[in-house]
Amino acid sequence: MLKKAYIEVTNRCNLRCAFCPGTKREARTMSPAEFDLVLEKLQGAVTYVYLHVMGEPLAHPQLAQLLSLAAARGMKVCITTNGTLLARQAETLLAAPTLHKVSVSLHSFEGNDGAPERERRYLDEVWGFADRAAARGVIVALRLWNEGGAEERNGAIEAFLREKCPGEWREPRSGSFRLRENLYLEHAKKFDWPDLDAPERGTQFCYGLRDQFGVLADGTVVPCCLDHEGDIVLGNLFTQPLDEILQGERAHALREGFSRRRPSEELCRRCGFAARFDR
Ligand code: SF4
Ligand code: SF4
Repeated sequence: MLKKAYIEVTNRCNLRCAFCPGTKREARTMSPAEFDLVLEKLQGAVTYVYLHVMGEPLAHPQLAQLLSLAAARGMKVCITTNGTLLARQAETLLAAPTLHKVSVSLHSFEGNDGAPERERRYLDEVWGFADRAAARGVIVALRLWNEGGAEERNGAIEAFLREKCPGEWREPRSGSFRLRENLYLEHAKKFDWPDLDAPERGTQFCYGLRDQFGVLADGTVVPCCLDHEGDIVLGNLFTQPLDEILQGERAHALREGFSRRRPSEELCRRCGFAARFDR
């Protein structure tokens, strides 16, 4: 049993964040039937499905149907979103019986030239959802993964959250603050996306394929949610069973490589995210 499968329900996004590498892959959105086929193959094999790789999952035109399909299969759903469509999709999300967690990348707003009044409206909308969702038992993580990057707006964002959640914030994990029940603020360093054109970074270890893998919008299986170009193709879940893909030669070499601290894949040796596991 693996912990998470990241499903790219669409690779289209409504933002253009300055730090986002984007993708050169064809723009594609999974149909509900394709999504259900993926769920069928993941059922019993993963604990959580995360709707995100590239793209904005809340922009999927049949989001309500996707959430119903996940609920019908008893699959717990986590979503990572840039937060800009939360107000529009709030009722759909709050009606989803197996919605477990929503992570909001507050740092995504930094790359989109937000005028102060737009930024305030964005925060109000994110808060409007976060407040209701946390009260209903959905975990909400507000992310500021921009340490070492464009941190200049963090002070205003934190002041906004202090107004909404006065009192002492506990820090159960370094950089992660519990604002109230089910509601967290997470700080982390900005990271460099893996890229075949990036310099080698001496990456040694990663949890890719150990506790997670990704399914791109065309069914391609990759080892993690950061392989934005689909460089490490392990198989295709639209046409193959999951076991066959995870027991394939390339997947086996990848797991072995990380166990020996010698990644088998060139992309992994150029991954700025996995560098955080080598400390
Ligand atoms: S919201 Fe995510 S996918 Fe969209 S541009 Fe920003 S980082 Fe890229
Ligand atoms: S090292 Fe980077 S690219 Fe390789 S599996 Fe891990 S997160 Fe993905």
